Amino acid sequence: MIRRAVLVLLAVVLLGGCERPPPVHKETLYVFGTLVEVTLYDVDPETGAAAVAELEVLFRRLHRDWHAWEPGLLSDLNRAIARGEPFEVPADLAGLIRISKRYAEQSEGLFDPAVGSLVALWGFHSDDPEAGRRPDFDAIRALVATAPSMRDVTVEGTRVSSRNPAVQLDFGAVAKGLALDRAVANLKKRGIADAIVNAGGDLNVIGRPGDRHWKVAIRDPVTWGAVATIDAKDGEAVYTSGNYARFREIEGVRYAHIIDPRTGMPVDRIVSATVIHDSGATADAAATALAVAGPDDWPRIARRMGIDLALLIDAEGTVHATPAMAARVVFEGGVPANLVVAGGKGPS
Ligand code: AMP
Ligand code: MG
Repeated sequence: MIRRAVLVLLAVVLLGGCERPPPVHKETLYVFGTLVEVTLYDVDPETGAAAVAELEVLFRRLHRDWHAWEPGLLSDLNRAIARGEPFEVPADLAGLIRISKRYAEQSEGLFDPAVGSLVALWGFHSDDPEAGRRPDFDAIRALVATAPSMRDVTVEGTRVSSRNPAVQLDFGAVAKGLALDRAVANLKKRGIADAIVNAGGDLNVIGRPGDRHWKVAIRDPVTWGAVATIDAKDGEAVYTSGNYARFREIEGVRYAHIIDPRTGMPVDRIVSATVIHDSGATADAAATALAVAGPDDWPRIARRMGIDLALLIDAEGTVHATPAMAARVVFEGGVPANLVVAGGKGPS
């Protein structure tokens, strides 16, 4: 009897000793010009390393094929467009072009990856946009007059053509979202259910770490601290566009890398726009579109793009949020006095 009690006690002690926290596999890759941090919850080191190695291969290929200015598949396609010739692309690039056409249409052309030449004229087709040199405003005006747009681009199967040779495709505003959607789909296929893939603050989550949610910070673009935090739910993607991330300074004025296709000018009324959606591609494209839309028009564009969760900070420091976002987000230091709640799926 005593021996049995000792055995039971021993078993309890051993089991208790086994209750270590589940292993977390964390690795950082350098791709898409940024650090991509992959966190896999309850995954052993070998499984984790194999999964991340597979993601790295995927990311490197997408970087090469979808890059806006380095030599590769997309620059070949852009050269064909400039010559007025059709071009055969792989199925996934055809898919990227197709969804981009849809986002361009939904956003009334505020998100429009056909503006590659404008982005280049502003000097952003460079890893390190130089400060100082004024862009050629005559060339910018002339290009805006030719109105390059995704409406000019036709995709038939995998054959891409443009009726406007001024179109130059730059998927900088959506490619990361689509790449991260594919990354988390890959992880799920491998049986990894709880993970976060974070590319410089733009991220996709699946599952949750134990009984908590993944906690995500929405950064204050000025102080760089967290303006708010939010619990990201299974399958959600959180993307931020801002004029603080990449900009050039010319004669004391900062010019953002997000260009308003209607004017050819960089956006200056929105400092940051954060969108949460269950598709990273949609969240990424919409964050860019809302930054272009500005403090007055963003609710309409958000509704057209099916966005229910958005938070924007404008140049005056006013915080704008949809009702659903305002209800979920936890602001550092309490709800800001200048919070404006607008938009959302319902009527406003
Ligand atoms: P994001 O950080 O997602 O807002 O993407 C910004 C990048 O998208 C820029 O660096 C440009 O390469 C490209 N871009 C700039 N303006 C636009 C626009 N209006 N529509 C689509 N892509 C844009
Ligand atoms: Mg974007």
